[in-house]
Amino acid sequence: MELTLWTYEGPPHVGALRIAASMQGVHYVLHAPQGDTYADLLFTMIERRDRRPPVTYTTFQARDLGGDTAELVKRTITEAVERFQPEALLVGESCTAELIQDQPGALAAGMDLGGIPMVSLELPAYSKKENWGAAETFYQLVRQLLADQLPAPGTPAPSPQRWRQEGRRPRVNLLGPSLLGFRCRDDVREVSRLLGAEGIDVSVVAPLDARPADLQRIPAADANVCLYPEVAGPVCSWLERRFGQPVVRTVPIGVGATTAFLAELRQVLGMEEPAGSSAAAEPGDAGDSRSRLPWYSRSVDSTYLTGKRVFIFADATHAIAAARVASQELGFQVVGLGSYSRELAREVRAAAKELGLEALITDDYLAVERAMAEAMPELVLGTQMERHSAKRLGIPCAVISAPLHVQDVPARHAPQMGWEGANELFDSWVHPLMMGLEEHLIGMFRHDFEFVEGHRSHLGGSPPAGGQPPAGAAQPQEPAAATAVATAVAPSPAGAPSWDPSGEAELAKIPFFVRGKVRRNTEAYARDHGLARIDSEALYAAKAHFSA
Ligand code: SF4
Repeated sequence: MELTLWTYEGPPHVGALRIAASMQGVHYVLHAPQGDTYADLLFTMIERRDRRPPVTYTTFQARDLGGDTAELVKRTITEAVERFQPEALLVGESCTAELIQDQPGALAAGMDLGGIPMVSLELPAYSKKENWGAAETFYQLVRQLLADQLPAPGTPAPSPQRWRQEGRRPRVNLLGPSLLGFRCRDDVREVSRLLGAEGIDVSVVAPLDARPADLQRIPAADANVCLYPEVAGPVCSWLERRFGQPVVRTVPIGVGATTAFLAELRQVLGMEEPAGSSAAAEPGDAGDSRSRLPWYSRSVDSTYLTGKRVFIFADATHAIAAARVASQELGFQVVGLGSYSRELAREVRAAAKELGLEALITDDYLAVERAMAEAMPELVLGTQMERHSAKRLGIPCAVISAPLHVQDVPARHAPQMGWEGANELFDSWVHPLMMGLEEHLIGMFRHDFEFVEGHRSHLGGSPPAGGQPPAGAAQPQEPAAATAVATAVAPSPAGAPSWDPSGEAELAKIPFFVRGKVRRNTEAYARDHGLARIDSEALYAAKAHFSA
């Protein structure tokens, strides 16, 4: 048992549902209790799809348990096949059905389904989660559909450079994009455009919008691009082993990663770098039309971003990418890095090590919130969970990964990948921060009753309730329901040295977004030096000590 209030991922059958709903011509029969149809809303509300996901639930009830639930499974399969006439069928069970052990996949295998390919899903709901379920379903489906194309053992792998002899452009598959993935729709558009500009065709995009017949064309491409390792990692490795198809594994999020992605792709496909592209022009120069991120982050207005402390927690793909962009392209200091993707923990640990950090691998959002409070960042890049935690701690936050909410399926084009994706990263990460001039002015003049501490006027809304107008100043008319935003100052832990009024007064002069860190450093200094009270002198001694 584990006490859980929020989970980063759903059960594995939701991952299977994501694959079925992303594709066309696939139907999923799910042995599940009445009520599990809640999952439909993920697609019709969050993804705002205009049709129900292609799933038929057995929706058994308590009274069915006394009867023959296996018969119910068979009847549901027959009806679903007759009604929807799918090109491929998935059969599986949800957590509760797993306990009844009706073996719906085995039942389907013994039925006459008119020859359609059927995949029996074994998804252990009590040990695995949604992304694993999606990856396993995608892998099993591809395996099943390619079963009769498997090359005989010993057959030499086709050359990824055969496009030259065949007198055609090179072509690759984009594997991994799915519904409920983060910005997949726009990433596919962006990466396809990027490849088109390089003279590379996109053959199959899957699972998003693919049909079973498209999956059967996968081996005809020269290479596979593993866009989302959480979903496509296992299938890409299998295609590499069994069909000799090379995999491009660099995920093109950020300018550096996009440049490395194109270099890896050209190297795999044996292509020359086109004259006047990539390395030939300095990426991000003021006139460069590819991405504005490098120039924007070099322009003088971004100077105040340098060294901003950022805490990152996301799925592995987006966490690793964000850490690189934050540290190498925006000049932030990454003070925390972690992920809930246990399957890719090794990769996250390696990325954290490069930054001198220890990765936080957990699916307990309270542990993440504690680590966040401990690191005292000025910006959080995370999931919907971290958005809530950061709000409680009064820290600016941008969402960079699933689990997502409806506002992260925007109407506008908002990719994370490629050159345009880098523009989007710059805007969406910098936006929650206080603008440079406002930060400077609040540091200089602390007595304004509108631009009070912690207030970010470019985000609209009311000043935070914690801000104090000077005594005697006219009190602004606050709306009754003004949002209370806590400042980023953590209370002193019990047993900490106490603060003298002169120390408190000096502490209040420190800008609010670093004040928590200064408070904690000073208390640590006081403890180490046996000081029971902290006055202004102790505060400056601590400052000198930590900046030495
Ligand atoms: S079967 Fe699983 S997903 Fe469905 S209600 Fe029970 S715990 Fe939730």
